[in-house]
Amino acid sequence: MKEKGLLIVISGPSGTGKGTVCKAILDKNDFWISVSATTRSPRVGEIEGKSYYFLAKEEFVSKINNDDFLEYAEVYGNFYGTPKSKVLEMIEQGRDVILEIDIQGALKVKDNYPEGVFIFILPPSMVELKNRITKRGTETPESLMTRFKSAYKEINYVSKYNYAVVNDNVDDAVRKIESIVSAERCRVDRMKETIFDCKEGLMHEQLYD
Ligand code: 5GP
Repeated sequence: MKEKGLLIVISGPSGTGKGTVCKAILDKNDFWISVSATTRSPRVGEIEGKSYYFLAKEEFVSKINNDDFLEYAEVYGNFYGTPKSKVLEMIEQGRDVILEIDIQGALKVKDNYPEGVFIFILPPSMVELKNRITKRGTETPESLMTRFKSAYKEINYVSKYNYAVVNDNVDDAVRKIESIVSAERCRVDRMKETIFDCKEGLMHEQLYD
């Protein structure tokens, strides 16, 4: 029998580069990334069903009422949610699943799915974080300040996570996350099927020959 896949939750404040890190991980690994639903409008270049599922507020609320989300949260005035059934299906099939979500959402997943692997992406420093949010150029001055202030508070939630990875350099951050995932796969409590298969097939007599 196959082991279940891992639920790898990658989060951190806005501007830490978690999106870039996740993209780089997916380029090199056979992970399955969950596509979130959101009520935010698409940005230039974003693709329906690939970047997000873009929903009207009423559609999103109806999905909440149907219990369709593993978690959802309001982030900067828009709703974001992780579609539940596909994620759980992939894990059951043995695929490792990545969620790239905000901190409120990650903490909700931790309550409902504590066996997940919770990784917090830290910026090298708050000064660097501010530079990165500014350079991105997608924010108005007000929303930039909002994002920066909440990022400053959010850093405190790192203590709720299993791992923290500083994103100083994307390749290094990716290597560290790959190492975390390899180690997590070798945890004895995740290897019940493998250990069972290892012992199976041996005749009782063979033990005492
Ligand atoms: P953006 O609007 O820049 O794409 O994303 C804003 C924030 O929402 C980011 O921190 C991103 O990680 C987070 N986010 C994206 N999808 C989800 C989701 O499904 N659930 C939660 N809780 N946060 C999400």
